[in-house]
Amino acid sequence: MKVLFATSELSPWVKTGGLGEVAGTLPAALRALGLDVRVLVPAYPEMLRSFPHAEEIARPHGLGGLLPTPTLRQALAPDGTPLLLVDYPPYFNRPGNPYLGPEGRDWLDNHLRFGLLSRVAAWLGSDANTLAWQAEIIHCNDWQTGLAPAYLRYLPGPRAKSLFTLHNLAFQGLFDHASLFELGLPDGAWHLDGVEYYGFLSFLKAGLQLADAITTVSPSYAREIQTDAEGMGLAGLLRHRSERLSGILNGIDTQAWNPATDPHLFRNYSARNLDAKADNKTGLQRQLGLQQRTDLPLLAVVSRLTEQKGLDLLLEVAPQVLKLPAQLAVLGTGTLALEQAWAALAQRHGGQCTVTVGFNEELAHRIEAGADIFVMPSRFEPCGLNQMYSLRYGTPPVVRATGGLADTVIDAADQKHGNGFVFGPATADALLQALQRATAAWRDPVRWRALQKRGMARDSSWAEAARQYVALYQRV
Ligand code: ADP
Repeated sequence: MKVLFATSELSPWVKTGGLGEVAGTLPAALRALGLDVRVLVPAYPEMLRSFPHAEEIARPHGLGGLLPTPTLRQALAPDGTPLLLVDYPPYFNRPGNPYLGPEGRDWLDNHLRFGLLSRVAAWLGSDANTLAWQAEIIHCNDWQTGLAPAYLRYLPGPRAKSLFTLHNLAFQGLFDHASLFELGLPDGAWHLDGVEYYGFLSFLKAGLQLADAITTVSPSYAREIQTDAEGMGLAGLLRHRSERLSGILNGIDTQAWNPATDPHLFRNYSARNLDAKADNKTGLQRQLGLQQRTDLPLLAVVSRLTEQKGLDLLLEVAPQVLKLPAQLAVLGTGTLALEQAWAALAQRHGGQCTVTVGFNEELAHRIEAGADIFVMPSRFEPCGLNQMYSLRYGTPPVVRATGGLADTVIDAADQKHGNGFVFGPATADALLQALQRATAAWRDPVRWRALQKRGMARDSSWAEAARQYVALYQRV
């Protein structure tokens, strides 16, 4: 089966969150099952730097509207996955975040940039394709490739089937009516059953409406987004398409996130020599300027600093958390208001609370290994990766019961299966209670060790998810 995995992010080169991680790991897992999967991604500067010899293989032209003719280049990822790079420097030769300009605002031509990505994906699944390789399935991801199913629908001739995976419903890719023409879509697409969404053109709605199948990244999130409370305006459409919607829980990169071999750690460890984890705590405390205390639990966060992630709730109770007593280490970037509020808190509590504003892969690994307890109080969470890293690193997570968090973390009240701490309401009080329970449990070493080991034993590999995707491709 020939599958094109179309994505706007690809770990380790270009990543702002979960989508980049999935794109960097799932295709290889699918290839291991015998599928011919290739990844389509824009030729960002990071990609061209890493693959300077990516050879030109096609120049898809006549794409319609104002869409330019890009150069399609081919490269081979170190894991053996073929990469197809959409090279059009005026659109993609921009350093940094793939969606935002230097002022932190969306690039004004994002509809054209990701319209082109979607259009080339559809081209690769159509008869216009001039390569020897033609995709049978186009696997789209989030709004950035949401128009591919629309192009496939409105193209003449035989073409590929499509699967649309939703990693986050909050980003919808809304543009004005004029973009319909600029993107080369026919007038007929401006319809309730097409790409129109309350007077806007929505990339996300197009994908959800027109793909042959829809998945999201956890079974719980698949259910939640069909409710008006959590459907972000799309619940009706998702209920309407519920027979084609399913949840497949993400795996993680178990090589990159393995405490026994992780090169970023101060000291490697595994479930068999968990005592070695302690050196990571001391190392982290030293690096972050925290007091070197072994008698306090170290709580940690690695996250986008946004309301979605509930980090305003944690901020609210942080003074009480520090009085438990506990230490707190936060790494993240996000809204200016939350970044500043967190930085101010850290300044008031030097030595006991630190906040690192920035994106730092190495520090993220060191925090997963060095912390005692990981905190993820998300208001909603399609899947979430960090709670799975935490489980694997023997750092039991405290999570809110939502989406993928609910599907991966089992509360310690279940003495046989518990691997973390789960709370219900998205309130500061409920979070504080869960943190109190977690820190109390940490003070009971025998109980804590058992909790850590159950988490570390969880299988978070891609194998099961990949099997489910293959079954779905076959059905489509
Ligand atoms: P989302 O995609 O909603 O941001 P996920 O938990 O699914 O959340 O994925 C977040 C990914 O990004 C994880 O791999 C996490 O480690 C990483 N990450 C988030 N913020 C940072 C940061 N400031 N520094 C390093 N890694 C980060």
